[in-house]
Amino acid sequence: MKKIVVLLLFCSFSAFSQDSDSLVIRKIYNEILSKGEAYKTLTYLSKKIGPRLSGSDGAAKAVQYTKKVMEEYGFERVFLQDVMVPHWVRGQKETAFIETGKQKINVPIAALGGSIATPIAGIKAEVIEVKNFEELEALGTEKVKGKIVLFNRPMDATKINTFEAYGGAVNQRGNGASQAAKYGAVGAIVRSMTTLQDDNPHTGGMRYATGVPMIPTAAISTNGANLLSKMLKENPKLKFYFKQSCESLPDAPSHNVVGEIKGTEKPDEIIVVGGHLDSWDLAEGAQDDGAGCVQSIEVLRALKALGIKPKRTIRVVMFMNEENGLRGGTKYADLAKQNNEKHIAAIESDNGGFTPRGFGMVGTDAQISKVTVYKNLLSAYDLKEIGRGSGGADIGPLGQQGTLLIGFKPDSQRYFDFHHAKTDTLEAVNERELNLGAASMAALVYLLDKYGL
Ligand SMILES: [Zn+2]
Repeated sequence: MKKIVVLLLFCSFSAFSQDSDSLVIRKIYNEILSKGEAYKTLTYLSKKIGPRLSGSDGAAKAVQYTKKVMEEYGFERVFLQDVMVPHWVRGQKETAFIETGKQKINVPIAALGGSIATPIAGIKAEVIEVKNFEELEALGTEKVKGKIVLFNRPMDATKINTFEAYGGAVNQRGNGASQAAKYGAVGAIVRSMTTLQDDNPHTGGMRYATGVPMIPTAAISTNGANLLSKMLKENPKLKFYFKQSCESLPDAPSHNVVGEIKGTEKPDEIIVVGGHLDSWDLAEGAQDDGAGCVQSIEVLRALKALGIKPKRTIRVVMFMNEENGLRGGTKYADLAKQNNEKHIAAIESDNGGFTPRGFGMVGTDAQISKVTVYKNLLSAYDLKEIGRGSGGADIGPLGQQGTLLIGFKPDSQRYFDFHHAKTDTLEAVNERELNLGAASMAALVYLLDKYGL
């Protein structure tokens, strides 16, 4: 008898709790879907500030602007963290053409971030096409020396998750130049990381390996890569010309921007929600990652507007320099360690502001299982993919401290249409989808805060 009473009490308590949670989550969605301000903030960031590559004026303006937005929302503490960042500049617009006999056909390229310039007169050489580093190695110095290597392995269009397709192709962009230089190449041209067939080069970061000569490298549009490949089959002796004037300037001072609301019961337990404020120089950086930044600010704005007083400390972080250095994310984790801060969870939104699907996590089984129990509450909002996955680049360094890393996971089908290309503008972002993402993150923050990990 006694047992039954206890059981009944327990059941009604947990049902009550679940009820109240679902009501609060409903309110969070209502607030953001009807009064959300993320799109307004994104509009300013995209249209009034625009490109925000590390070290640029745009990046500095974005720091001041997002700080001001957070202050105006009345977040309890808004502060900057100093961080030195790489300062790479593109210089003049690149030119490139394919030359066969008397014919010259211009093709769109964009220098890869971190690349050196070509000589002022440009580089003209024969081209050798490869699909991967194994093919390059098999060709060896004899076939590669003095040539421009075309890395032309497309993103695999058959992958359902486009991030997997990206992951399967992006080593050409990151390491292609140094791989090619090992065999004496004079330049590296890399097929753009997109499944679209279009004329926009998609830039992105690259790194030179130590002990290998540095050669200039650029992304070519997918149409350009297809044309060059086709023409090479007809005339393997054709020449490719490219010219770029990018350079790496000395490191520049910059900042992460942090806003927080202190917890009422466990202020020492911190939950981070963030995105990266820097963006490539070719576009407005609306999807990558203006969306993640404004969604993160919106999380705290909405919780505050609803009068939800978190038990734990909630922090919004605009990380600097994800694109070409990750200095901001690294600095944030270093400071957290120095200051003995305990971060129980960190959520990053850096996969675009598209329709939410769920969250991917990096952590222990015990940590992850504490979040998967929220599936029944969140699936009503189409958040159905909640489980092990990938967190995010900026929050990655916090993983060493045992923080549960959570990556917000939107639909991935269109992200690489815009990624690192001039098409990544405000117009690429749908306001409702953006708000749904912010609401998803706010709902999860609410649950993580209430129940801990
Ligand atoms: Zn990004």
